[in-house]
Amino acid sequence: MTRPILFFLHLFLSFLIFSNSLYAQGNMKITGILYLTHQPVEINIEHGIIVNIETLAEENGIDDLPIIGPGFIDVQVNGHSGVSFTDQGLTAEGVLKATEGLWKEGVTTYLPTIITAEGELIRQNLRTLNKATNDKKLSKSIPGFFLEGPYISPIDGFRGAHNVKFVRQPDWDEFDSFIEASGHKLLKVTVAPELDGAMEFIENCRRNGLKVAIGHHNGNASQIHEAALRGATISTHLGNGCANTIHRHNNPLWAQMADDRLTPTIIADGFHLNADELSVFYKVKGVDNLLLVSDITKLAGLPPGEYDWNGKTVLLTPEGKLRLPDLDVLAGASFSIRKGVGNMMKYTGCSLAEAVQMASTNQAEMFGWEDRGSIEVGKRADLVLFNIQDDEVLVEKTIIDGEVVYTK
Ligand SMILES: [Zn+2]
Repeated sequence: MTRPILFFLHLFLSFLIFSNSLYAQGNMKITGILYLTHQPVEINIEHGIIVNIETLAEENGIDDLPIIGPGFIDVQVNGHSGVSFTDQGLTAEGVLKATEGLWKEGVTTYLPTIITAEGELIRQNLRTLNKATNDKKLSKSIPGFFLEGPYISPIDGFRGAHNVKFVRQPDWDEFDSFIEASGHKLLKVTVAPELDGAMEFIENCRRNGLKVAIGHHNGNASQIHEAALRGATISTHLGNGCANTIHRHNNPLWAQMADDRLTPTIIADGFHLNADELSVFYKVKGVDNLLLVSDITKLAGLPPGEYDWNGKTVLLTPEGKLRLPDLDVLAGASFSIRKGVGNMMKYTGCSLAEAVQMASTNQAEMFGWEDRGSIEVGKRADLVLFNIQDDEVLVEKTIIDGEVVYTK
C-alpha cells in the first residue's frame, strides 16, 4: 500500500475508535439482583439512562451476583476524607476529594452541608461549592447545598456541636446574601422555630423555593405546628440536636412526631438513636416519611483518636463514635448512609427495599429530583452494586449517569 493510502486508513481507523468511545460513554449492561424483587435482572443503560430492565431466569445461579439498588442520596453531609465544607480554606479540589470518598460509600447524590459559622465564611464556602459544582462531573452528584444554622437555639444540648459564638436570630438580608453566594443552589436550611422572626423566615424560604427544616431547637408544640403550617416540611435529625434531659410532656419530640407535615431525617449510625427510637420513628412516620442521613463529618474514614477541630477537641472512638468530650455531645457521625441502611433492617425489621427507599427514593421525591432515586426505565443510571454481610451494606461498585465512578 502506498503512503497516502496508509495515512488515510490510519485516519479512518482513529475516527472509528474515537466515535465508538464517544458512543460507548454511558452505555452498559449490568446483571445483578434487583433490590425490590430479589430477582436477577439485566439492566440495559444507554447514554446514562436506563432503557430496559429484563428479569432473568434464576436457574443460572444467583449466589455470586451483587444486589443492585438506586445510588444512595444523603441530604446532610458535613464533609468527608478530611475535607469539611465549613472549614476555612475550602477548595474545589477538596469538594472533589470528599465527593470521591462518598462515591466509595455508594452515595451518588448529596447535599454538602455548612453549619453555623461567621457570615463571611458561610458566603465564601457557598461560593466555593457553587464554583466546584459548575464542573459537570460534580454537578451530577451535588444538586445543591444545605445550611444547618446559624439561626438555631443557643442553649447547650439543643445547639449540639454548633459554635455558640455564631448562633444568631434569623436575618433575611444575611440569608439572602447566602442564597446569592450559592448561585441559588442553596436548597435547604435548618432553623429553630422559637426564635424571633422564625415564622417569617420560614415563609420567605418557602417563597424562594427552599426546603425548611426545623432542628437544633427547643420549640414548644404550638411553635412546631405553626412552623409546619408556615411551610417547614422536615425535622432535622429528629431525636438529636436536643438536650439530654427534657420534660416528659412538653418537649420538642412529641409535636414533631405527631405532625404529619414534618418528615424527619434520622441518623441511623447506631449511636445517635437507639434501636427503640428508630423503631418508634419508623412505626409513627412510616417508610414513606423518613429520610436517612449520615450527618457525616470530615473525620470519616480517619483512624480513631483525638483531633483538633477549629480549636475544639473531637474524639473519634474505635467504634466510630464522634464526641465533643467537653460538652458530652455527639459531634456528627463517622458512618456513611450505607451503615444506616443495614441498621434500619437490623433494628426495625424493615425490608431491604424499605431501607433503600429511606436512603434514596424518599430523598429524590422530597427534593423533586425526578431523574433519580429508583431503578426504572427512563431514570438516570445512578446505581449502587453491593452485598450484605452481617447487616452491613458492602459497596462493590457505584455508577452515576451510566459511568462507573467507583469499583472496589
Ligand atoms: Zn445537627
